[in-house]
Amino acid sequence: MQDIPTPGAAPIARRRFLGLTAATGVGLTLGAGPIGASLASAAAPPTIHPTSSWGAVPPSSAVEMLNQAPKKLFIHHTATGNSTDYSLAHGQALARSIQRDHMNRGWIDSGQQFTLTRGGHALEGRHRSLEALRNGRVHVQGAHCTAQNDVAVGIENEGNYMTVDMRAEHYAVLVDFSTYICSQFGIRAYQIYGHRNFNATDCPGDRLYAMLPRLRSDVAARIGGDPTPPAWPTLRRGDRAERVKALQYLLRSRGATIEVDGDFGAATEAAVRDFQGRTKASSDGVAGSQTWNQLAWYLTRGASGEAVKAVQNQLVANGISVAVDGAFGPGTETGVKTFQNRVSLTADGIVDPRTLSRLLA
Ligand SMILES: [Zn+2]
Repeated sequence: MQDIPTPGAAPIARRRFLGLTAATGVGLTLGAGPIGASLASAAAPPTIHPTSSWGAVPPSSAVEMLNQAPKKLFIHHTATGNSTDYSLAHGQALARSIQRDHMNRGWIDSGQQFTLTRGGHALEGRHRSLEALRNGRVHVQGAHCTAQNDVAVGIENEGNYMTVDMRAEHYAVLVDFSTYICSQFGIRAYQIYGHRNFNATDCPGDRLYAMLPRLRSDVAARIGGDPTPPAWPTLRRGDRAERVKALQYLLRSRGATIEVDGDFGAATEAAVRDFQGRTKASSDGVAGSQTWNQLAWYLTRGASGEAVKAVQNQLVANGISVAVDGAFGPGTETGVKTFQNRVSLTADGIVDPRTLSRLLA
């Protein structure tokens, strides 16, 4: 289900992970060129029906093409009926209906980049999304998850999966489609999420949400990597710890004006609530997985600011000596690699959500 397209909190270091794709990419393109032996089981990508094939109207203004690949893949459900019409014609009508609904909300085009029907038909949603996918190094900014639209590509799955399971035929294509999207953009399998991991919503439904560990595993079986998503601490009022400082630094990086004292008091709670409100996360004042998912970003050498201090302070808390100066230089990079080696993560010196979560453990 869609959410309003507010960019939300300004992403820190938004331009700092240009070029990261090459480092994190799996180094192959399904359906084009040689495929390594490890990919022997990878299925061909599904046919993706472009906007021109289903009678899309032009966007009301130009879609925004960002010069960076998305880092995350979000799974949605349309919360529409569980149709038994599995024809392409039905899917085309659904795509038109979604676009009409979204443009009636004042959006420029369909909110999601892609649509997948119960019949297993994959369709382009927002214009130019197929072009971006083929390219693999750019991203069409969508409108499917508040505060994540700069970094997340989304698939709307036809149906309502609160109490009903996705059809096996539909799921099989979802695996193929997700594998192709992750391969093209260099998205790691662990970065496949449900909409509810970021916003206060039921989407993609309880039953489909429960399928996501399997989806991550099925995709990882084809593209490699550990499919385990980040596990975040839960911090609440009254907590006193070094990792409360990390939370406070991260909140400051998103505009909060709180002190960094490691004491989760009233001011920190208010700042968490404010951040949750701005990112459309559940607004309970408790820093749980939704809040951390929204706070986590990609930090690499050259980054600077409060979020870097969060990382540096946690390195120190883990016994790795670095200056807590907010400048991600060679010393911090070495410290990050040392930590990654210690906890058996790929020692690439990049603080992605999983590395951050391990620093907080
Ligand atoms: Zn959704």
